Amino acid sequence: MERDNEKHKQRQQTLKQAVDGKIEQAQIDKGVLLVLTGNGKGKSTAGFGTVLRAVGHGFNCQVAQFIKGQWECGERNILENLGVPFYIMKTGFTWNTQDRDGDTAAAQAVWQQIKLALADPTVDMVLLDEITYMVSYHYLDIDEVVAAIQNRPKNQHVVITGRACHRRLTDLADTVSEIQPIKHAFEAGVKAQKGLDW
Ligand code: ATP
Ligand code: MG
Repeated sequence: MERDNEKHKQRQQTLKQAVDGKIEQAQIDKGVLLVLTGNGKGKSTAGFGTVLRAVGHGFNCQVAQFIKGQWECGERNILENLGVPFYIMKTGFTWNTQDRDGDTAAAQAVWQQIKLALADPTVDMVLLDEITYMVSYHYLDIDEVVAAIQNRPKNQHVVITGRACHRRLTDLADTVSEIQPIKHAFEAGVKAQKGLDW
């Protein structure tokens, strides 16, 4: 028992030294590009959670929602009341879209707005929710998206969410998390639930 305790203490000490060393090494202050991708649930909620965290520190944040624009969204109800501007797709892109020109125009309209935020040094954080699909469908030009993110103000954070993120964006990112589905209620016939899914 006593020996176990001693071993545990030693292990924890070694771990603490390693972590402390890494903390000491991390000295760079900069705007971070965070990509939340993968097929599991939780990308957009994590993106909005990050915006909420930043707003809690008084940061100036802006959100672009590139999908399901006109759907109700709990986070938008809260964040707009806190003064966070949202740019949403008026026609609302859906999976079964039949109107490529209409979707492209809607995506471009949101992009033109949020591009201003990506060039504005008074904006501390930009969330590009579901932008990965706009790139996959070629509604937005990958070169233009990469350039806008690359040339953004040095201290501005950008959060990207969506499945199948373009390699150029994950290459550019500082932090990339892939959420893997282990199981999802939908597969067992549970419909999307208010407050949990939107
Ligand atoms: P959330 O908005 O809940 O964080 P997400 O952004 O990770 O989810 P999306 O791919 O944007 O996931 O999907 C949006 C909707 O699809 C949500 O209602 C979510 O619950 C649902 N969903 C997410 N992952 C899965 C999955 N693996 N199977 C079925 N439905 C899913
Ligand atoms: Mg999402």
